[in-house]
Amino acid sequence: MNQNQILFDRASKTSPGGVNSPVRAFRSVGGTPRFIKRAQDAYFWDENDVRYIDYIGSWGPIIVGHAHPNVVKAVQEAAAKGLGFGTPTRAEVEMAELLCDMLPSLEQVRLVSSGTEATMSAIRLARGFTGRDVLVKFEGCYHGHSDSLLVKAGSGLLTLGNPSSAGVPVAVSKDTLVLPYNDVDALKTLFKDKGDTLAAVILEPIAGNMNFVRARPEFMRTLRELCTEYGTVLIIDEVMTGFRVGEQCAQGVYGVQADLTTLGKVIGGGMPVAAFGGRADIMAHMAPLGGVYQAGTLSGNPVAVAAGLATLNIVRQDGFFDNLRQKTTALLAGFSAAAHDAGVPFSTEMEGGMFGLFFSNQAPQSYAEVMASRVDLFPAFFHAMLDEGVYLAPSAFEAGFMSAAHTDEDIASTIAAARKAFAAISHL
Ligand code: PMP
Repeated sequence: MNQNQILFDRASKTSPGGVNSPVRAFRSVGGTPRFIKRAQDAYFWDENDVRYIDYIGSWGPIIVGHAHPNVVKAVQEAAAKGLGFGTPTRAEVEMAELLCDMLPSLEQVRLVSSGTEATMSAIRLARGFTGRDVLVKFEGCYHGHSDSLLVKAGSGLLTLGNPSSAGVPVAVSKDTLVLPYNDVDALKTLFKDKGDTLAAVILEPIAGNMNFVRARPEFMRTLRELCTEYGTVLIIDEVMTGFRVGEQCAQGVYGVQADLTTLGKVIGGGMPVAAFGGRADIMAHMAPLGGVYQAGTLSGNPVAVAAGLATLNIVRQDGFFDNLRQKTTALLAGFSAAAHDAGVPFSTEMEGGMFGLFFSNQAPQSYAEVMASRVDLFPAFFHAMLDEGVYLAPSAFEAGFMSAAHTDEDIASTIAAARKAFAAISHL
């Protein structure tokens, strides 16, 4: 009896598509999503007791590996003291101090429960602060599912082939302008024409929601300069890249500071914690001090914050990212060699513990280039890997995630699986 199938059939009766987040479905690759019942280190096990080496990492948070003893202990201890109080706690103070200490552009932060809340609130704050309405985003970037951001977005929207969501009023999306990623000229032209009306620019500094497309350094520099010149708030969305690509997030990689930063995923270690923060003069506009309202019953939840603190305390140890980078580098070198030997067009990208795999000879630099790669090869590759016990994200448009718990052996087995998978698709 295939328990995954039985559960999926049951789930499909009571939930749309059988999943609680579209990216978990196998819509673009075909087949049945695995229902996972437990996880440890780099592995999880499905309801048929099949073990997989996991490169989804809960879509980013599980950077220290599943069920790390420090994290589990912190959660258990916090839970034993009560699941939530709706009052301030010491752990929230420690979390805010730690985040401001780890990321130089953060002077103040507010904790929320999801990346969607973080970006939505940061945008409201930028609008309240500047008194302007217009928001600029880039094609293929995903910033959560709030209305004004579901325009030409990445992630599940891209996977399902419908980059702008239905149900978003024109009145809302008309204030969202979308530019091509990495297009410096388009950026300059827009600012020249409309710079004084732009409240904020939001971007993924490394776009992990259209696979893996990094901003060019010149693009980031120009963006920072133009935002400063025109008084537009630069929001760097580090929900995915935050403490995932390096010690100081993508801002450390680029040497560029945001006015506001959004964080999520890793800072909750697998539990619902996210945050937005940045310049204290901007954050002073938040309620209860200022007129921009934002609130949350579960914000700063003590059990979730305990998981986040325990995770960050591992991530900030000396050598953590060097080790993670080495693992990711080794994995990608193995993939590239295997693809080359099979004669499959292939390239890779990575930063820290985040990586992209492309069926093209050169890593893409924009949404258009991502779409021009052989995304048609992905479903067969994905299933060949799954059959070998390797769980990649079920989409050609999502980044992969390495954890500190992946061993050399896990990486070698993954590369051996990739050899078979590339051979299997070489005739396509
Ligand atoms: N921003 C980015 C860059 C993301 O990758 C995501 C989620 N993948 C979000 C925002 C939204 O976060 P959440 O799913 O926690 O709402």
